[in-house]
Amino acid sequence: MKEIRVRFAPSPTGSLHIGGVRTALYNYLFARKHGGKFIIRIEDTDQNRLVAGAEEYIYESLAWLGVNPDEGVKVGGPFTPYKQSERKEMYAQYAMQLVESGFAYYAFDTPEELEAIREKLKAEKVDNFQYGAATRHTLVNSLTLSDEEVKARISAGAHYVIRLKVPKNEEIRLNDLIRGWVMVHSSTMDDKVLMKSDGMPTYHLANVVDDYLMQISHVIRGEEWLPSAPTHVLLYKYFGWESAMPEFAHLPLLLKPNGEGKLSKRDGEMMGFPVFPLQWTEEETGKIISGFREEGYLPEALINFLAFLGWNPGTEQELFTMDELVEAFSIERIGKSGSKFDIAKAKWYNQHYLHQRSPESFVPAMQKALILEGFDLDATTVQKLITLVKDRATFEKDMVLESVQVLQVPSSYDEAVVASKWNEDARNGLQLFASVLGEKMELNASDAKDLFNQTMESNGIKPGKVLQMLRVALTGKGAGPDLMTIIEILGTEACRKRIERMIVALGA
Ligand code: GLU
Repeated sequence: MKEIRVRFAPSPTGSLHIGGVRTALYNYLFARKHGGKFIIRIEDTDQNRLVAGAEEYIYESLAWLGVNPDEGVKVGGPFTPYKQSERKEMYAQYAMQLVESGFAYYAFDTPEELEAIREKLKAEKVDNFQYGAATRHTLVNSLTLSDEEVKARISAGAHYVIRLKVPKNEEIRLNDLIRGWVMVHSSTMDDKVLMKSDGMPTYHLANVVDDYLMQISHVIRGEEWLPSAPTHVLLYKYFGWESAMPEFAHLPLLLKPNGEGKLSKRDGEMMGFPVFPLQWTEEETGKIISGFREEGYLPEALINFLAFLGWNPGTEQELFTMDELVEAFSIERIGKSGSKFDIAKAKWYNQHYLHQRSPESFVPAMQKALILEGFDLDATTVQKLITLVKDRATFEKDMVLESVQVLQVPSSYDEAVVASKWNEDARNGLQLFASVLGEKMELNASDAKDLFNQTMESNGIKPGKVLQMLRVALTGKGAGPDLMTIIEILGTEACRKRIERMIVALGA
């Protein structure tokens, strides 16, 4: 059987969109599943559109998520270089091969001339000018000029491009693994430029040549590339590479949360959720856009979320580790229709994976975050805090917030609880508890509970009548995480002070 070799082929023309990350993930899962290779190829032939930092951003995003390539710019491989600008010299011979075999031709029309034709047709209410089978015999190219004229123009250094000669009347078919048979009539296709006047190949030429040379077995990419696929099929045919043509799988679009239209960068900004994996600084405006990582998403949560945007295992199971995804993944279970970008689901995954992680794993980051909030605590205490607040958190930042609420001396007391629970019993009970706390050096949660209950009962007070006011005294709030653990973390002395402070503040 043919070796499975797939590639993620981004163009570093801006920040890697989350849809691109999903494409990379599906390629990765497919390669791993079949013991194949996952390749990253940088498609940077459109030099005018390159954006500084975009390539590094791609590597950093994929590394953060653990979507690691077997071959690529950083890791090397048998088909180095994996960056198209470094392969530039190689493409010309392939364009020439097509010119010589009559499947491509030189076109000398300047962009200004073509624009003038477009304008003229627009004025005559004919839009959609296509450089193609219906028009090429009226334009300035090696099909209409004599050989001598062509040679003369080229040696005089005239501006020219090389275009694919799309057949007039042919049905182009491809069997997409997700969509089934796709058929396009060649009369609807234009003669795509293969080589630009600056000597750079276009996406179409470089993409097909590289997929062939790198022995790509499957092209798994976004649906927006489906219209390009017939051009690619023709190229394989004209190069005589039909038997090596990869299989195609065009992934469904990512849709806005309401399902109406394609997910865009602006949707994220408007609805307050990330659409980029990592923070990105916009080149023109200097604006910083936060990413999934900065928003506190764990890589395993984002992976699980993205896997389900277009694919499903066909079972009820929703939680998958990367290894489980590799095991379960198949192209047959990718849907045709677009997937709604439901950020609530991403949060749900995050909550799950946050709970899955051990408290220890959060200690260093939490310790730092709490120092910034003014609380310099030892690792043991921080770990206790994490255990206390983790189950109620969706993000790490929720744990910080909730910890701070425990650690800081309350500045106010929940008015509703005070109105209903602050009475003689509560005041006496808390006063008694404060004095017994004053006699203890240290208490763990379970001892604190026993001490509280005993103190109340031996004085004829029902613990339940005092408990919520004890919480208000310690945290200011009527509800929150386990109160006895809070006592253990704060320590007896701090608790005693907080209780006495509230008694003074609320009076009799
Ligand atoms: N360079 C294209 C992109 O930016 C690659 C499309 C493909 O995978 O063929 O997505």
